Amino acid sequence: MEEKYEYSAKIRDTEVKYRKWKVKDKKKFMNSEDKRDLRDALVYDCLEDKTITLSEDEYKYILMKIRETSLEDKVHYTFKCVKCEQLYDFDADLNTIMSGEFLPYGDIIYKDHIFTMSSLKNREFYEGAIDAADSKDEKYLIDFILHINAYNDNDGYSFQQLNEIMNELDADVFEKIIVKWEEMRFKLNNIYEVQCPHCNNVELFEFDDLPGFFPESWDR
Ligand SMILES: [Zn+2]
Repeated sequence: MEEKYEYSAKIRDTEVKYRKWKVKDKKKFMNSEDKRDLRDALVYDCLEDKTITLSEDEYKYILMKIRETSLEDKVHYTFKCVKCEQLYDFDADLNTIMSGEFLPYGDIIYKDHIFTMSSLKNREFYEGAIDAADSKDEKYLIDFILHINAYNDNDGYSFQQLNEIMNELDADVFEKIIVKWEEMRFKLNNIYEVQCPHCNNVELFEFDDLPGFFPESWDR
């Protein structure tokens, strides 16, 4: 049967077309045995372009978009106001509380180093390397390296070679480069202002843990 992809979300200049979750996705999600199956069920199977490679934050962003389209109910929170200490309810619209932040890909230039950054290319390699990494820092570095299209105008470096180049950088040079990459990479912004209806106090809340993200019947 031909699938229709009626919805779209933007990641940088790319219009990512997707469809809502179907029963088959739920089945696959509940029976998935590895992370790849899980990612397929929740996101990749729902995309028109299945060759796309999403970074971890891009994946979370598209997952949130698909969830918000597929399940109309909002995510429900109860907050305790820091000022008046009264409880209040907040129904979070994920499309509003989460947004993507990034700068266009380009060259990161520092001293005699030029890193030309671009989008990810090989999903299998990317996910394999990210899943095998055992620390957050290592994941971050792998993500950075796999976004490098060329180093000093040479686009022929392998992952290992780029890894060695990174390891040989002076620590302060590395820091400067990472600061620029941090501005450029796609980041999920999930910090949002919520206002207490009792005293009108506004506080910033980080929506990192989402209760009710999946329906109860999807419990694995
Ligand atoms: Zn209050």
